[in-house]
Amino acid sequence: MHAVIVGAGMGGLFAALALRESGQFASIDVYEQTREPSTAGAGLNIPPNGARLCKWLGVDLDGGDPKGPHGAVDGGRAAILESTRGIPADGSVSTKPIDHNTATGDGAGFHHMHRLDLLMCLYKRVFEVGPKTGATCPIEVHMGKRLAALRQDPSSATTTFTDGSTAAGDVVVGADGINSKTLQLLWPDAPPRRSRESME
Ligand SMILES: Cc1cc2nc3c(=O)[nH]c(=O)nc-3n(C[C@H](O)[C@H](O)[C@H](O)COP(=O)(O)OP(=O)(O)OC[C@H]3O[C@@H](n4cnc5c(N)ncnc54)[C@H](O)[C@@H]3O)c2cc1C
Repeated sequence: MHAVIVGAGMGGLFAALALRESGQFASIDVYEQTREPSTAGAGLNIPPNGARLCKWLGVDLDGGDPKGPHGAVDGGRAAILESTRGIPADGSVSTKPIDHNTATGDGAGFHHMHRLDLLMCLYKRVFEVGPKTGATCPIEVHMGKRLAALRQDPSSATTTFTDGSTAAGDVVVGADGINSKTLQLLWPDAPPRRSRESME
């Protein structure tokens, strides 16, 4: 089978790696609207369960060069939280170590990292299984491809991009973020985004 993924954010690249791991696909193509990887926001936290999944998918969260250039395709530069500190009103400081010896004993710690660094270590992993590497089930990322239309029949789905090009797959995964065009095209009446109020 062949999978088409729309969006090369964290969701799209993780989905590509996970579909590849399933062993059900011959190749996977990811289509991203921007010309180069970018992401909003600053830091994020990855708890031990997430870090364990990253390890399983071959994504290196903390083996990168801590002094490397910003936005470089690199092993990640995550810091692993070793302890928390409490500072009550009297100004004293208490430290509580975080036990790294998780239930499964694999040492997956509580990671902190910049969002762009996480994206870059996802790209690094995806490039390691790119079409030119000879890897089974290669993953290819196509930049500058903005989804405009979607058509499906009983056996396949076809995406059309704003430059007029198309891509067909047995499966199309919409990983195009909170204002998903995929969602809009398939379910035009879906609210454009969820807010806390609409979920209450
Ligand atoms: C400031 C901030 C801090 C956060 N901190 C944390 C945290 O600590 N821990 C945590 O787990 N989560 C955190 N989150 C949430 C997390 O970042 C999001 O859940 C995550 O980015 C969602 O990933 P995604 O791939 O679904 O969407 P996105 O990251 O939005 O990626 C979507 C991708 O699709 C592309 N795209 C969009 N439309 C199209 C189209 N028409 N055609 C082709 N491509 C398209 C976009 O360019 C983008 O690259 C934080 C979010 C923010 C904003």
